Amino acid sequence: MARTTDYSSIAWGNPEKTGAAFDFRSDVVTTPSRATLAAIACATLNDDVYNEDTTTAEFENDMAARCGHEAAAFVITGTMANQLALRSLLYQPPHSILTDAHSHIIHWEAGAASFLSGAAIQAVRPVNGRHLTLDDIRKHAIWTDDVHKCPTRVISLENTTSGNIIPLSDMRMIKAWADDRGILVHLDGARLWEAVGTGAGTLRDFAQCAHLTTLDFSKNLAAPMGAMVVGSRRAITALKRIRKGLGGGMRQAGILAAAARQSVFEHFGGGIVCTQPHLIKSHLMAQRVAQAWTNRGGRLLRDAETNMVWLDLNASAVDINSWNSIGKKHGIMLNGKRVVTHHQLCEAAFSLLDVVMDEALDLVRYGSNEERVRKTKL
Ligand SMILES: *Cc1c(COP(=O)(O)O)cnc(C)c1O
Repeated sequence: MARTTDYSSIAWGNPEKTGAAFDFRSDVVTTPSRATLAAIACATLNDDVYNEDTTTAEFENDMAARCGHEAAAFVITGTMANQLALRSLLYQPPHSILTDAHSHIIHWEAGAASFLSGAAIQAVRPVNGRHLTLDDIRKHAIWTDDVHKCPTRVISLENTTSGNIIPLSDMRMIKAWADDRGILVHLDGARLWEAVGTGAGTLRDFAQCAHLTTLDFSKNLAAPMGAMVVGSRRAITALKRIRKGLGGGMRQAGILAAAARQSVFEHFGGGIVCTQPHLIKSHLMAQRVAQAWTNRGGRLLRDAETNMVWLDLNASAVDINSWNSIGKKHGIMLNGKRVVTHHQLCEAAFSLLDVVMDEALDLVRYGSNEERVRKTKL
């Protein structure tokens, strides 16, 4: 017997159902739309390892063109994109990668730069507290012949970096300086969409400041998975061989490429600037969270420039575990001091966050709920 589909039970396009609507831990929790499911159904189903899949090839070419580069490779995660990019830029140890001390490649990629590329890491703390500048790099990069030193072969920039934008002018100065010394530049653009969304520059502007740029589709763009490495044809050809060697060559990759492509169109747009409202909307949400915190006397660890808010929980003496568990009690997901906003959060989640802030701060003030009730009665 034919049954009509119960759309309310479909997770696609239903952030309330997937939990994304109440989840402030990260933008990776965003889930794909029903149009994305339809896009998957329309994908070609040919073999991408044989270079025969049109959907994947068209998406790669589109991304390369938007970034002003010759070629691109679709990969499964942002981490794989970064590691393949670094591995293809590095030739022979000893070599080192200079990067922000907070960068994803240091803290969140399982140490892969050391075992895949044999690279030493030069972790630099930006003097301005937000992002690396040419001054930071000039001070720490190694490009002389001193045999004691491990030469800097790659500068790895992350934009946005912990939610802060590296301005185009800084990126350009760094690229020009690196070019003069034969140092290559990798741009971890997992959240480059957010920077472009603020109008800080176009995709092409930023991608022109790096030899290889990586882009992630599974953050605030809500693709189920997928990332891209963009660069010269030569570099991408070399990278695709390493991708295959690591088991990252995908057969009917079109189903993932179609989903990622749809996500880019839906939440960013079809060009080199952002033409969809969702990213800006999530930046306004971040400002709202920042305001809610500072209105209660809280301090921020960084400016909320895009979709991340860094709450100085320590300064307010709020314990991280109780912060998370108060969130859970009220039905929202939190992960310590970093609050990430994304376009799938619902209005109710923000009211709940207000309640959580009050309760967490009251707990500090009064020690316990009973004490609070007693004191406020006096
Ligand atoms: C999320 C992210 C990545 C890649 O993460 P995956 O989970 O592997 O897709 C890389 N760099 C930055 C800055 C990120 O935020």
